[in-house]
Amino acid sequence: MATQITAGTSELRDITKMERIGTHSHIHGLGLDENLEPRANSQGMVGQAKARKAAGMILKMVQEGRIAGRAMLFAGPPSTGKTAIALGMAQTLGSDVPFTMIAASEVFSLSMSKTEALTQALRRSIGVRIKEETEIIEGEVVEMQIDRSLTGATKTGKLTIKTTDMETIYDLGTKMIDALAKEKVTAGDVIAIDKTSGKVSKLGRSFARSRDYDAMGADTKFVQCPEGEIQKRREVVHTVSLHEIDVINSRTQGFLALFAGDTGEIKPELRDQINTKVAEWREEGKAEIIPGVLFIDEVHMLDIECFSFLNRALENELAPLVIMASNRGMARIRGTKFRSPHGLPVDLLDRVLIVSTRPYTEEDVREIIKIRCEEEDVSLSSEALAVLTSMALQTTLRYALNLISCAQVLARKRKADTVDVEDLRRSYSYFMDEKRSVQWLKEQQGTLVF
Ligand code: ATP
Repeated sequence: MATQITAGTSELRDITKMERIGTHSHIHGLGLDENLEPRANSQGMVGQAKARKAAGMILKMVQEGRIAGRAMLFAGPPSTGKTAIALGMAQTLGSDVPFTMIAASEVFSLSMSKTEALTQALRRSIGVRIKEETEIIEGEVVEMQIDRSLTGATKTGKLTIKTTDMETIYDLGTKMIDALAKEKVTAGDVIAIDKTSGKVSKLGRSFARSRDYDAMGADTKFVQCPEGEIQKRREVVHTVSLHEIDVINSRTQGFLALFAGDTGEIKPELRDQINTKVAEWREEGKAEIIPGVLFIDEVHMLDIECFSFLNRALENELAPLVIMASNRGMARIRGTKFRSPHGLPVDLLDRVLIVSTRPYTEEDVREIIKIRCEEEDVSLSSEALAVLTSMALQTTLRYALNLISCAQVLARKRKADTVDVEDLRRSYSYFMDEKRSVQWLKEQQGTLVF
């Protein structure tokens, strides 16, 4: 196990936040005003006012760091916006606060145990904001020598920088040489080099004065080094998740596993060490914990062992807000013979804030369809909009939204720019909704052999 615990870089955390396109791509937030009141149609959100307002209140508590270790449950019929509202919450949180989304069934896999999968999801949802100091070398360029290798790919060189008291020679690598070239640095320029990022800034031709320091950013400190060399230190902040720190420090995985998405199991001893290290960083003022959000869709698919594990995990000091969604009423708790509201054990239900979502009104459905058409760049005739709205009310909103792109393909085939009733009718005959599909199977029972 690596004894030196590192936190990685800010670029790494983007990997976990890539998948939010597709059926919910029109959702850009919860569509609330400053008083957390839902706007009629805003940020892609329509209707479901109470649930959106409740979600907004919860978010406020998350942002104020007051709700870690709590859980909420969105309960409501299919297609009533439970996932959409959770994603609206994620959009509102900002990129610094981790939001992880899983479907409960993902927890059951051959590659890792259920509890390991849940632990990884929980630790993905805890951010560690790390403050680091980077060293900045600054002075007047006296001389630059650059050697190119035969292939021209690697370059090495020397840079002589004069500060107030002395001249120092620095060895250069390709990256730094490229950075100097990009800034068109020549002898006589006064430059600043950020040693961590390799960023080069030109500060003008006169020797550094205080305003030149300002040019590097307000958080730059001036440091007089013992050797007389002028250096400054600048604070840089980046946020990574606890899971990313785990993976980066895992000898068996290594950070490339983050790109592959297959991180395997991580040893509990490593996690203990990382927790201790992060606690130290917090005490030294180098790191701050940002409790994020873990969203578990179809939560009734978890079994009793997962629920007990979650219940215990919520007690942990490093627990995120856990948001669950279920479209079941009374359901059997998986792994037991007992039935319970939403398929959740009562001891977990007891600590959960429940928010219910309701079926949409005709007006809401029409608006959501219009938003989706805009999002998918589909023009719908007013008759087709009326037909699709009534289809959504008779089947589900999701089914109706799925028909939009199918109908567009058919409209294009007949070289029309606008989707009309006939395109919808044909799509409806090609693709079944759940009720018709079940009905068809019932009718065929006895005649079909599977
Ligand atoms: P299920 O229980 O079946 O998982 P759900 O309650 O999570 O369903 P969603 O998947 O969120 O439902 O909604 C179905 C579709 O309708 C999605 O494309 C979603 O983006 C859209 N949608 C739902 N509610 C709203 C809303 N209030 N405003 C805009 N779009 C919405």
